[in-house]
Amino acid sequence: MPKLVMKFGGTSVADLERIRNVANKVKREVDRGYQVAVVVSAMAGETNKMVAWARELSPLHDAREYDTVVSSGEQVTSGLLAIALQHIGVQARSWLGWQIPIRTSGLHGSAAITEIDAKVLNERLAQGQVAVIAGFQGIGPDNRITTLGRGGSDTSAVAVAAALKAERCDIYTDVDGVYTTDPRITPKAQKLDKIAYEEMLEMASLGAKVLQTRSVELAMIHRVRVQVLSSFEDLPGTLVCDEDEIVEQQLVSGIAYSRDEAKITLVKVPDKPGVAAAIFGPLADGGINVDMIVQNVSEDGKFTDMTFTVGRAEFERAIHIIERNIGAIGYQKLLTDKNVAKVSVIGVGMRTHAGVAQTMFKTLAEKGINIQVISTSEIKISVLIAAELTDTAVRALHTAYGLDK
Ligand code: ADP
Ligand code: ASP
Ligand code: MG
Repeated sequence: MPKLVMKFGGTSVADLERIRNVANKVKREVDRGYQVAVVVSAMAGETNKMVAWARELSPLHDAREYDTVVSSGEQVTSGLLAIALQHIGVQARSWLGWQIPIRTSGLHGSAAITEIDAKVLNERLAQGQVAVIAGFQGIGPDNRITTLGRGGSDTSAVAVAAALKAERCDIYTDVDGVYTTDPRITPKAQKLDKIAYEEMLEMASLGAKVLQTRSVELAMIHRVRVQVLSSFEDLPGTLVCDEDEIVEQQLVSGIAYSRDEAKITLVKVPDKPGVAAAIFGPLADGGINVDMIVQNVSEDGKFTDMTFTVGRAEFERAIHIIERNIGAIGYQKLLTDKNVAKVSVIGVGMRTHAGVAQTMFKTLAEKGINIQVISTSEIKISVLIAAELTDTAVRALHTAYGLDK
């Protein structure tokens, strides 16, 4: 019998009525003849609430205890969905990460899945039981609960689909697919029938929260067919697939934005070999991802200002590490700005076409939007701008690249 993984996000399991709706959707696939593994998120808002609790008690809290707390939302929904399924006559059992087990790295708070033992799951599925798996969590080398980073249930789902060799991984959410940009920003956004793994990977890593970046990475490596679709309407979704399955490839396929950025500037750092290593080495050792970087050398060439961005959730830790290393770095002043956003234009067509960057800079200039930092790769261009201009920038770029509906 073919296997199917169905993942339901926070809004899809936000209350009991919606959990009943999910149970009915699962039953429908079981009746169609699928062996089904379901992955669930916590009820909408629950994880945010618990993250805030940990932060309030201590900004630099112990990440192991953070995981113990924030993983609990998924335990609730996995049990509730199993009950709802049993209530409508579908055999079901809930599974926490450690019970399967879903093994992960030891990086608490954003652990990576290293191995899933599918033996027991396969046995239960073969017995006709639906497995309801708590997303977002696993077990680390220290035998403690880990979590996979915000939005991590998508990754749980794709990893389970790969381990089970499922026919498809359906990601049910509160939008009916992947759009050219966040449909909450502009009603002119268009739904894509298909998107290439590589483009989806860029979109996700640049802020399109519809799929967690790691889930796309895993799907690409293991060739898992991922479909994004609505839990509330019966509409065809978006298939994430190979580039060659897409007939009409656009020059620019989408615009993404992220408000989860923070900018840090180290003023007057001595301009000598080894200074970048002195700054970014300790940050990397602390598990902090540095994204965009610019360096401005002073006129006399003796000093440099180093500006870079980190995720807002990691901002406090980053500052703590920089301040601890002031001796080795030797900066004179530290400036910070959390009021920034990153806006990006994405498309595999950029590999072969010039002028994409020019359109972006011109469009932003016409709107009077100042660009603070720029970064590029083969298939994307990103700029850092003032946070309050995000919507204006996204809408203007969406129009400029001919993506409007
Ligand atoms: P879930 O709780 O189901 O995991 P998320 O909130 O994580 O849902 O992801 C869905 C949201 O992603 C949508 O509500 C939408 O606002 C946002 N989003 C951002 N960019 C895009 C995009 N390009 N296409 C579709 N949705 C997007
Ligand atoms: N509940 C977790 C979060 O809010 C994981 C997820 O929903 O994917 O980040
Ligand atoms: Mg999500």
